[in-house]
Amino acid sequence: MTIRIAHWIADETVDVPDARVAPVYDPATGEQAKEVLLAEPDVVDAAVAAARAAFPAWRALSIARRQAILFRFRELLEARKPELAEIITSEHGKVLSDAAGEIARGQEVLEFAIGFAEALKGDYSVNASTGVDVFSFRQPIGVAAIISPFNFPAMVPMWFFPIALASGDTVVLKPSEKDPSAALWLAALLKEAGLPSGVFNVVHGDKVAVDALLAHPEVDSISFVGSTPIARYVYETAAHHGKRVQALGGAKNHMLVLPDADLDLVADSAVNAGFGSAGERCMAISVIVAVEPVADELIAKVTERMRGLRIGDGRRGCDMGPLVTREHRDKVASYIDVALADGAEVVVDGRGVVPDGEPGGFWLGPTLIDRVATTSRVYTEEIFGPVLSVVRVASYDEGVALINAGAFGNGTAIFTNDGGAARRFQVDVEVGMIGINVPIPVPVAYHSFGGWKTSAFGDTKAYGRQGFHFFTREKAVTSRWLDPSHGGINLGFPQNV
Ligand code: NAD
Repeated sequence: MTIRIAHWIADETVDVPDARVAPVYDPATGEQAKEVLLAEPDVVDAAVAAARAAFPAWRALSIARRQAILFRFRELLEARKPELAEIITSEHGKVLSDAAGEIARGQEVLEFAIGFAEALKGDYSVNASTGVDVFSFRQPIGVAAIISPFNFPAMVPMWFFPIALASGDTVVLKPSEKDPSAALWLAALLKEAGLPSGVFNVVHGDKVAVDALLAHPEVDSISFVGSTPIARYVYETAAHHGKRVQALGGAKNHMLVLPDADLDLVADSAVNAGFGSAGERCMAISVIVAVEPVADELIAKVTERMRGLRIGDGRRGCDMGPLVTREHRDKVASYIDVALADGAEVVVDGRGVVPDGEPGGFWLGPTLIDRVATTSRVYTEEIFGPVLSVVRVASYDEGVALINAGAFGNGTAIFTNDGGAARRFQVDVEVGMIGINVPIPVPVAYHSFGGWKTSAFGDTKAYGRQGFHFFTREKAVTSRWLDPSHGGINLGFPQNV
């Protein structure tokens, strides 16, 4: 029997018998044993109403009590995270160690959020004017909606909800319909940790549910992560409805390799960052920009490492799993034909992979394409799969100009032993997150995550100090306690004396 994945509203599982549904696959077998409900606006209304109803009591709870609940949640997560990794692997396909890695990075944000008392402390100025004090403090904004992509079903929601909850907001999460179970597991764990009913809700769905959240008068903020066209749409629509919005989009991340770089380190990094999670990471490296004369030697080293990778079921100790759906696998594979048609050289063709897994799985092996033209769709579009391109350039300047000409600006990396070149790069390059001899520069939880250009819309990055700014609003209070010197009538604009 097909398992139905239902909504989670006010601590109850909510099934809707005649709801539209979407299939949920095990990508390593290709089997569909589950289906997820797709919410209509009435279900979104119910979730938002539960979050709104829970807000006054949650925001009024003391810092110490909110901290205690989040701390209990952290302890439960720490003890039980292998269960969550299994769920992620069974619906996303990434290998178990990678699923554990995404949970660890999400937990890092949770641990940062538990220290929120420091982040939410206000400012105080004594005697700003004679006998007048001015102070400011931050308050929660209300109901925070989070809309997340398929590629990090636990980590991306955890970029946001621990900080929203710590700030005193209540949450409605709309996870990806491709791998929705991780969100429910987290919701049940929050309940077990003592989170009051209605503070955290999960609504499953597609565009219908997203549109209902974007226009809902009782939703105060939208945190979105996904592809660039949808991020732009979410940003514009949510802003039109007067909401605070942060919308993180797609990516095409370049790795600039200077001739003095350690090519063994570069080759290891390119393979790890290009093919980890089957390239389905917004911080994956998808283009190696090789400053000649290194390309031939580097390609030989990368190819040798690719030969050693084990592709297969993520539960069997393989290095790389399948892609998330058959459609996505076919779309990614189609870029190999585009490359050939555009005159590129396919050095390794992943279509011939022999996986350690069921034949029905959504398999595509690691693929390496050399001499990719920068006019080719292989170069200009986000592929989001295990396809690594090589573009050869003559100089550092040509490489940086290429990166800066791109539409995306999520992550990038430079590999070099020249500190001066690396320092120039960190200033010159128009990208939000930069690695220096580090291929996937996802900032730690106490810095903030976000790209530039079409990789992010909105003013505020995810997590870190900016996360707390997003999920709270500041109030400034000017106060005077009566004393005999108060000045009587004066219609002029207040001046400080
Ligand atoms: P997606 O844009 O297809 O979906 C993201 C979310 O939007 C999902 O919850 C989905 O249900 C919803 N959605 C899909 N179509 C919609 C529509 N027409 N209207 C309203 N909502 C819609 O993205 P995905 O395929 O799930 O995830 C992969 C993408 O996410 C890649 O482009 C990747 O680069 C990006 N991503 C970016 C970051 C980042 O931090 N910048 C992080 C992870 C993933």
